[in-house]
Parts: sequence; C-alpha cells; structure tokens
Amino acid sequence: MDARYFDDKTSGIEQRINEFLADGLKLFVSSSFQTHSIPLLHILASISKEIPVYFINTGFHFPETLMYRDQIARLLGIEVIDTKPVVCKSLQCDADGNLYFASDPDHCCYLNKIQPLEPVLIEKDVWINGIRAEQSAHRKKMGTIEKGPFGTLRYHPMLHWTNKDIYYYRKLYNLPPHPLEEKGYLSIGCEPCTRKADLSGDERGGRWFGMKKTECGLHTDLIEKK
Ligand code: SF4
Repeated sequence: MDARYFDDKTSGIEQRINEFLADGLKLFVSSSFQTHSIPLLHILASISKEIPVYFINTGFHFPETLMYRDQIARLLGIEVIDTKPVVCKSLQCDADGNLYFASDPDHCCYLNKIQPLEPVLIEKDVWINGIRAEQSAHRKKMGTIEKGPFGTLRYHPMLHWTNKDIYYYRKLYNLPPHPLEEKGYLSIGCEPCTRKADLSGDERGGRWFGMKKTECGLHTDLIEKK
C-alpha cells in the first residue's frame, strides 16, 4: 500500500467534496478523535481547511482524548469546534441520584451527543463522518450516502476503508495514534462506557460492556430509516 494506492482512494473523496462545494452545500465533519479517525481528517484538511470539524464533547471523555484532539488539530492546522450538552450534569441524574450513563445510557447519549449536534445539523447540508463497514454489522448495511435528519445528507467516505488501509495510511503520513491505544483500548468513547478490548477481536466490544447497547445513536437515530 503506497502513495499511489491511497491517491486512488482519496481522489474519489476529493471529487465528491468538490461537487458538494460546487453545489453551494454547507459541509461539516464530526470526529471522535480516535486513531482510526485521523486519516479522514488528514484527507479533508488536504482538500479544504474551511470544512468545520466538530468534536462532540460530552464532558465524559478521557483526558487523553482531549489532549489527542488538540495534538491532531495542531498537526493538521485545523480548528476544532466542541459541541457541548445543553442540559447540565446536575440535571442528568436518575431518581437514585446516579448519572444516566449507569441506568439509562440511551438517554445519556441523547443529552450529550445527539441533542448538542442538532443545531449543527439544522444549519448545515452535508454531515461527513468516518464510520466504516468493518466496525459492526449495523454499519456494514449503510451506504456511502444516506439521508440524515433536518434535510441533511450523510456522507461516509471511509465506509469501505479497512483497518489495514487505516494503519498503512497513518504510517505513510506519520500520523500519531491515540495515546490509550498502546494501553489496550481499540475503540475509545466516553470514559464510563469504554473498557479495554478483550480477545474476541470485536473492535467495538469494549464499548458499553455488559449492556445491550452497541451504538450511541448518532449512526442509528440520526439516519433516515429505510
Ligand atoms: S457513551 Fe456513555 S457517558 Fe457517553 S454519552 Fe453515551 S451513555 Fe453517556
């Protein structure tokens, strides 16, 4: 996998982005700032640094993720905008006084991820995000272009990139990994809902461990049902 291999893959993304821009559409990208998120940000930064980059800052992230977000922003010369929850944490407790992530994680994800993104979705036309088919059976069923909420389009340019692609792209461009990866974390979200990977090989197996939940809702609720 050399530069030419990736040129073929990235030229299609560049073409699609330029088509959106030529149509006068307002784009944005959301990123969870994990190791596998960085090739997309690198590709987009090489096309246009004017595409706003949003980080859905729930207030529950590992400090390492916040440091990594800032490191990547400096490295790529991009500005990152944090979305913040509207409802303060003191009002995010159940009847027993516990934060919702323990008793009602779907509601916690709604308050801290989905609701804060809604104003951005209302304002913009195209939501670019880096979901990949390899990540789960649910994501495998998605298309590169899908309809999102509030009349938006979702664009998934990395959908058919494999873990191997991500690895070699990072090596080619010397893009650093998330600092928790070397400690055994493969998929890194909010601290209360993330644990180290087990030996099952399931990349997202460390998320919401022991619960029936496998998605936060960004890629299930904010997509037009077929
Ligand atoms: S991942 Fe966990 S802590 Fe983060 S918003 Fe969802 S339930 Fe809350």
